[in-house]
Amino acid sequence: MKIDRRKLLAGGAGAAAVSVSAREAVAQGVEWHREVDVVVVGSGATGLPAAIVAREAGASVIVVEAEKHTGGHAICSGGNLPLGGGTAYQKKWGVQDSADLVFRDLTDWSVVSANGSADYRYNDREVIRAFADNCAATAEFLQAHGVVIVDKPPDIQGGNSVGASIPREMHCAPVDWPLIQTGKPAAPENRLTMSTGNGLMHPLAAAARKAGVEILLEHRMKSLHRQSPHAGAVIGIQVEHDNRIINIRARKAVILGTGGSTSNVNFRRMFDPRLTEEYCGVAGTPWSYQDASGELAAMAVGASLWGLYNNTAEMGSGITKPGTVGGQFGYVNLRFFPGSEVFDKARAAGLRVGDWQNLITVNMIGKRFYDETGKQFASDNYGVNKNYVQGSYLNSKNMKWNPNNYLNAALAGIGDGHNGGGPIWAIFDQDAVEREKWDPKAPYVDAENGFFFKADTLAELAKKIQMRFQRTPMPPENLEETVNRYNSFVEKGVDEDFGKPKPLYKIARAPFYAAWATPVLHDTRAGLRINGKCQVVDMNGEIIPGLYCGGESAGGFSLHGLARATCQGFIAGNNAVKEPARA
Ligand SMILES: Cc1cc2nc3c(=O)[nH]c(=O)nc-3n(C[C@H](O)[C@H](O)[C@H](O)COP(=O)(O)OP(=O)(O)OC[C@H]3O[C@@H](n4cnc5c(N)ncnc54)[C@H](O)[C@@H]3O)c2cc1C
Repeated sequence: MKIDRRKLLAGGAGAAAVSVSAREAVAQGVEWHREVDVVVVGSGATGLPAAIVAREAGASVIVVEAEKHTGGHAICSGGNLPLGGGTAYQKKWGVQDSADLVFRDLTDWSVVSANGSADYRYNDREVIRAFADNCAATAEFLQAHGVVIVDKPPDIQGGNSVGASIPREMHCAPVDWPLIQTGKPAAPENRLTMSTGNGLMHPLAAAARKAGVEILLEHRMKSLHRQSPHAGAVIGIQVEHDNRIINIRARKAVILGTGGSTSNVNFRRMFDPRLTEEYCGVAGTPWSYQDASGELAAMAVGASLWGLYNNTAEMGSGITKPGTVGGQFGYVNLRFFPGSEVFDKARAAGLRVGDWQNLITVNMIGKRFYDETGKQFASDNYGVNKNYVQGSYLNSKNMKWNPNNYLNAALAGIGDGHNGGGPIWAIFDQDAVEREKWDPKAPYVDAENGFFFKADTLAELAKKIQMRFQRTPMPPENLEETVNRYNSFVEKGVDEDFGKPKPLYKIARAPFYAAWATPVLHDTRAGLRINGKCQVVDMNGEIIPGLYCGGESAGGFSLHGLARATCQGFIAGNNAVKEPARA
């Protein structure tokens, strides 16, 4: 949102505070509009546990949340929660675990994916030790604050590099809470059996409010106030709300739980230059955005980044193959339907692909680039490492090489010098629609914004594909040639170009369709350098007093999702309250 400067200066926030930058303001004496002990930025998997813990330990707490609603990506999630270390839940099902085993798993250098990616080798030992030691306590904390766990043995089902050599994962049940995907509660028969982030985050938001945490929605943190630009403690934040700037003082600490950087094109390209603008369907958006605002604000006061390999490594769900096509947001496990609070932004639920034999994928110039049934990067690498032996080189020796390169081929582009791969289009015909039982119109596809096209001939279809990321027109003859060649492979039963296992169906019956199928970004696995207490550390290795961070905005920890975030929120909240109240 663009700030209207005149409105700012006239607004209730006070001219002295708004007419200068945050740093100058500190030097000049900030005009504080609010004051509490602990300010938490973000109401997701890190922020809400941090806020509840700090509040229940006696601190006054404000949570600022950029969106109109709480929950962050966590409420969009599958609610698969790999918190172990000897939880009551594990004990109930007879699973023996310990903090030491969690630590050992998450620092095992020998665990590799089938493409050679090392999941846990570059984890920071101090950060992992803290996680391991607080893992079980975090699980008990969540359950004590209303999170209902599905009553079945722990598993590793949601396994995207969840660091579990033994079953740890529990699943959050939605009970009667409305699902953000539909606006309605789950079907009665699923309320205690399905796994969803709704079952984690609705109860935590209720618990936070009940405990007396003040949650300020549509309050976006812009920057941090530090006593002096690169010295002293962090003493508050500058927030934008309703075109006004507000300064909130934190007597003890600020906790950043802003969720990572996948939605910030320039930031994410520091890790991978290929991730240009067309990767606009980040999982978890448009519910909330990972805009790197926490990282940028902390870096502006001297913070360091950490563990950067983890964000580029080809593992887990960092980048995913879309599971639905025809809408901007194609993440396999998240579909927004009419009735959802954000359907006006999501605009389409997408067509879920049941069988990639039903379509081909082509790049911007209408050429196939890979076997469409190809996989994304590997997950659950303990399961993949056959005969796993902790710390043994045999784990990589026993691994069957399988590069799973659909994504790298999709991101390779058309060789015109542009860094990203450009749009990827799923091309199919009416027969495919009928085989998949798709209804290729609203609310399933987004034709209005150029994420879905239909035509009576392939040449017409290629000409119609025009949208903001299609930087070069698709030559109609290319698409015709690609489809003809593919149809000849179907006749022969052999894909001579990309080895798709026995191509099954010709693309022959009009109308023909082109549906957005561009890879989806998902996890951030590198961010601010923190220590075992979740205190942010600067470029000299010194703690920045009064500044904490956890979850996807924190670095040094390759582990998918909720366990890392909830546990680091728990750790940060516990430590933030112990800070001295600064005058
Ligand atoms: C579709 C989907 C499915 C997933 N499934 C699983 C799963 O089953 N298991 C699992 O372990 N993990 C899963 N994950 C990952 C997991 O949800 C995230 O890793 C986790 O939510 C990260 O927590 P976080 O606190 O870092 O960020 P988030 O939960 O995203 O919270 C960040 C919050 O900060 C807010 N914010 C950002 N910037 C600002 C700012 N400047 N000012 C104020 N507020 C701000 C955001 O709006 C957001 O509400 C899934 C993620 C997605 C998207």
